[in-house]
Order: sequence, then C-alpha cells, then structure tokens
Amino acid sequence: MSEKLRQLNELGEFALIETLTKKTNIKHPNTVKGIGDDAAVIAQNDHISTVVSTDMLIEGVHFNLMYMPLKHLGFKAVAVNVSDICAMNAEAKQITVSIAVSSKFTVEAMEELYEGIHAACEQYNVDLVGGDTTSSLSGLVISITAIGEVQPNKIAYRSGAKEFDLLVVTGDLGAAYMGLQVLERERTIFLENPNVQPDLDGHDYILERQLKPDARKDIVDMLEQLDVIPTSMIDISDGLASEILHICKASNVGCRIYDEKLPIDAKTSMAAIDFNLDPVTCVLNGGEDYELLFTRNQNDFDKIKGNPNMTVIGHITHESEGVYLVDKSGSMVGIKAQGWKHF
Ligand code: ADP
Ligand code: MG
Repeated sequence: MSEKLRQLNELGEFALIETLTKKTNIKHPNTVKGIGDDAAVIAQNDHISTVVSTDMLIEGVHFNLMYMPLKHLGFKAVAVNVSDICAMNAEAKQITVSIAVSSKFTVEAMEELYEGIHAACEQYNVDLVGGDTTSSLSGLVISITAIGEVQPNKIAYRSGAKEFDLLVVTGDLGAAYMGLQVLERERTIFLENPNVQPDLDGHDYILERQLKPDARKDIVDMLEQLDVIPTSMIDISDGLASEILHICKASNVGCRIYDEKLPIDAKTSMAAIDFNLDPVTCVLNGGEDYELLFTRNQNDFDKIKGNPNMTVIGHITHESEGVYLVDKSGSMVGIKAQGWKHF
C-alpha cells in the first residue's frame, strides 16, 4: 500500500486535533464535555461540576526570553490557563505546573519564573498543587493544568449561542498583538546592532498587554452579580476571527459583527498605523488578548448596556447567513480562520 504520508502543516491545528482524537471513546457518564471547549466538564453532583484545561508554552514558539522576563512568563502561563476556566464561566481553584528546562538556566532564573507563578496564584486565588520537573535538550517548556468549579446550570459552552443573541466582548482587542510587533521590531534592531538601546517609549499599554495579560476572572464575578449567564462563551487567545468561528461552528449559527463597534484602544490603533497595519485586521487575526467573547439573549441588553467592560459587537444569525464582518460602508467581508502559526 502506498498511502501518501501527510505533513502536519497540511492540516492545521484544529484539523490535526480532530484527526488525532476522532477515536476518543467517552466511557464515564460524568464526563459531560470532553474535547472541544475551553475546558472539559466533569460532573460531581447536582450542585457542582469540575472544569479542567491545559496549555503548554514553548520557548521560541510562544515566548522569547530576549524580551520576556521570566517573572512575567510565569504569571502569563498561569493567566492563560485561568482564562480558559473563566471562559466556562467557572472559578479556577487549583493548578499543576510542569516544566522541562535545559542546562542554560540557573536556579535563580527558575525561582524568578516561580515568583510570577506565585503572584498569579495570589491574584486569581488558586492553589499550586503539583506538577512535574524534567530536563529539556533546548530551552524551556511550561505546561499548566488548571482545575475549576462551577454550578452546572451556569456553565457557558461554546455551543449555546442562539439566533438573535447579542455578541459581546470584554475589554479592548488587538493590543497584545501590537505589543508583540514593537518587541519583535526592537529585537531585530538589537540583533543587527547590539549597541542600540530599545525604543519602547510610549508603548507601555500595549507592551503590558503582551507581557502581562490578565485573565478576566473579574468578568465572571461581574456576570454573576448582574445575573447574566452567557448562552455561549470563549476566551480570545487566537484572535477574534478564530474565536467567533469556534462559537458559530459549535452552536450551528452564523453572525454579523460590525467593524466600527470593535473596541480598540487608541494606543493600539496608533501603533498599528505606525506599522502600516489595519487595526481591525490586528483585532481579527492577532492573538493573546485573553478577553472573553460571549453571547446573550437581547432581553438582557439592559443589564450590560453602558458597562465599560463590555461591548456589543454584533449579533447571532441563522447558520445559513454565514459569518460576516460588516464594514463602515456596509460591505460584508467573510470571516476566515487564520492558518496555524506554529509549524
Ligand atoms: P484553547 O485555545 O481554548 O486552549 P485548543 O484550541 O488548544 O483550546 O483546544 C481545543 C480542544 O482540543 C480542547 O478541548 C483541548 O483540550 C483539545 N485538545 C487539544 N490538543 C489535544 C490533544 N493533543 N489531544 C487531545 N485533545 C486535545
Ligand atoms: Mg480558550
């Protein structure tokens, strides 16, 4: 048999996960949700479900230690996992931390990493309860698993969006991506001429958004206070386009979003223009904002209207209407997923 072998980059991340996991067989009735959401859901009893999520960060792929201080990296590694727990409308309670580390690192460097991990545990009120430590041939790998809890009736899956629901995002978008552009520009300049000092002036906000992202645990608490249970929710780790497509696919719906409604900080727009980039493209295809995208019935509009943390960017439609961005002139642009960046 001469079946053609496929290269990983022919598939892309999501098709690869689908291919590898299609034979997965769920054996336990309390496995309520397995693969396919921000976290798996495991039923405990009528009042409580456990949610579990895991994420891995690789040196040279997800972070560059030339500009990422280890303390920030430790914080970020926890925050991105807590963010996936928040995306289920749940509360993170415990994490495990596994590291693979090469001999180029000192004990003090690893202590710095853990300072950041501990700081994030304080900020998000989670306990570090275990992990694994091993050697790596090159560079640093951090894999964190986060465990959280939620009342079963409050879980927000990707799959619950309904026609006419409002699409809401928290905070502002695109800043982390622009922060990365500034850092990469300065890195390139430094590599060409190590005597040139990095010029990061005026970019504090976007740099902080890249180097020290915050998981929106405050939003989960706020939704509880407002008595709003999202019909669906996801965290924005890969760019708005990809996350909207996840919700629409999982919920079998379409949507319209409006580019003039997208929350973009003035500092993000200014940096984008400096780099000859369209701010809206940065929002759609940039990543690492770690804000939340959720849907909610229009009847709840009064509860979120005017809330400075939440912006309505569009609405859910019937699946047959497709997934579109409407621009200022009223033209519709199809929203497409970006290819996998990591191969
Ligand atoms: P997120 O962006 O929220 O971290 P991912 O896109 O990484 O989610 O993953 C999507 C889903 O696929 C999740 O349910 C995740 O647990 C699952 N998944 C990812 N990689 C694997 C793998 N190698 N084996 C099994 N499940 C996986
Ligand atoms: Mg996620």
